[in-house]
Amino acid sequence: MEYSALIVEDDSTMVRLLQVYLEKKNITVHVARDGKEAMRYLSYEIPDIIISDIMMPRMDGLTLRNKLLQDEKYRMIPFIFVTAKNGLDDRIKGYKLYVDDYIVKPFEPRELIARVDAVLKRHSLYSDLMRFDGLTSALNRKTIEELLEKEFARVSRYGGQLSISMVDIDHFKRCNDTYGHIFGDYVLIKVADAILAEVRNTDAVGRYGGEEFLIVMPETMIDNALTVVERIRSGIAGLRFDPQEFNVRISAGVAQFYPGISSPRDFVHLADQALYRAKENGRNRVECLPQEEHSVLG
Ligand code: GH3
Ligand code: MG
Ligand code: MG
Ligand code: MG
Repeated sequence: MEYSALIVEDDSTMVRLLQVYLEKKNITVHVARDGKEAMRYLSYEIPDIIISDIMMPRMDGLTLRNKLLQDEKYRMIPFIFVTAKNGLDDRIKGYKLYVDDYIVKPFEPRELIARVDAVLKRHSLYSDLMRFDGLTSALNRKTIEELLEKEFARVSRYGGQLSISMVDIDHFKRCNDTYGHIFGDYVLIKVADAILAEVRNTDAVGRYGGEEFLIVMPETMIDNALTVVERIRSGIAGLRFDPQEFNVRISAGVAQFYPGISSPRDFVHLADQALYRAKENGRNRVECLPQEEHSVLG
């Protein structure tokens, strides 16, 4: 994977040095000359890491770091100080702003690169933990909701297609009651895998509740969404779980975005209503609601 770094540094020799070494590691470099410029850059682009000097005109590195910590959008960006300030008090001041590393000038370039790399790798482990569901390979609820919000904002503003589906395992309680929760967990993992295997890599799958999955399908019309989810349904119905040759079924509701839907919540609600209809109509099926019924359902 390719990373991007924001260097915040007023000394152009130092900028060039950092740039050369980072670019050798395929890290794309952006430069800000002080904290103020960095804040402006961050308002339109989020880098994978910030490497900042401390002593700079207009806004120094400590003030910049303080500002970033106060903002939820910026708090989690990996942050390293690279500074000539090497006194014990200076270093402690830096650590107290819980930076990911504190590197003193002059530094060994190879060591700097190794430390930057370690911070990036550690951060990507943590962000996987934060994004994915703890049991299955699906995204977690928070992540799929954020993703839906972004896609919803995109189609609301610029037009285009967006379909979603809410998938729920039929009579899953019986599975747990008959074979136990460990077996139930195993089935959940396999159902998630089966969904993930059928969707495109531009689609996203999240575990929305215990045995419910939300699929977000950008640039997809309802007919195509119905085809995909129907394929998921029949694929899952065909799975056999050893040793009992047990099988599960799913029901799903599908909905397509149109400008009358006012929020992601209402959109999910439509998919939910279609799911309830699938359950009412006998389960093991995929449904969508005709658009004329949408306004009646509140
Ligand atoms: P329906 O066809 O109406 O959806 O019936 P259902 O039994 O699937 O629905 P219900 O909502 O009554 O029960 C969902 C069950 O899913 C309850 C719970 O035992 C099970 N479940 C939820 N989360 C987990 C989980 O993480 N692991 C396991 N093993 N089971 C779970
Ligand atoms: Mg400086
Ligand atoms: Mg359920
Ligand atoms: Mg269920």
